[in-house]
Amino acid sequence: MIINCKCGLHQFEVNKNEIPKQGRKVQCGVCNKIWFQTPFGKEEITTPKKSNHFFAYLFLIILITLSFIGIMETFKDKLILKIPKLEQYYTIIEVLLINIFANLKNLISVFGIRN
Ligand SMILES: [Zn+2]
Repeated sequence: MIINCKCGLHQFEVNKNEIPKQGRKVQCGVCNKIWFQTPFGKEEITTPKKSNHFFAYLFLIILITLSFIGIMETFKDKLILKIPKLEQYYTIIEVLLINIFANLKNLISVFGIRN
């Protein structure tokens, strides 16, 4: 198995038998840092937490994007007057929204939830 030094710079290939189930202290041969190393099985338990973070970030990004689009729509007229090039942005957003709604309609008709 490969273990990572807590300094984040060094990796070591060690024999699985060298790390007991309850874990043990190990020392980096390069930077001399000492840490408590647990075997692979225990480390894998911590990975689902990362995916929770992923969805939190995804939600945050969607929220920021939606509020950005909302703000841009609110001040559309004023912004276009000040920066005429922004009209391209609004055209792209419009085309995007039309496509999204068209796809949604297709999805709904596929599932037969038509009115
Ligand atoms: Zn190190």
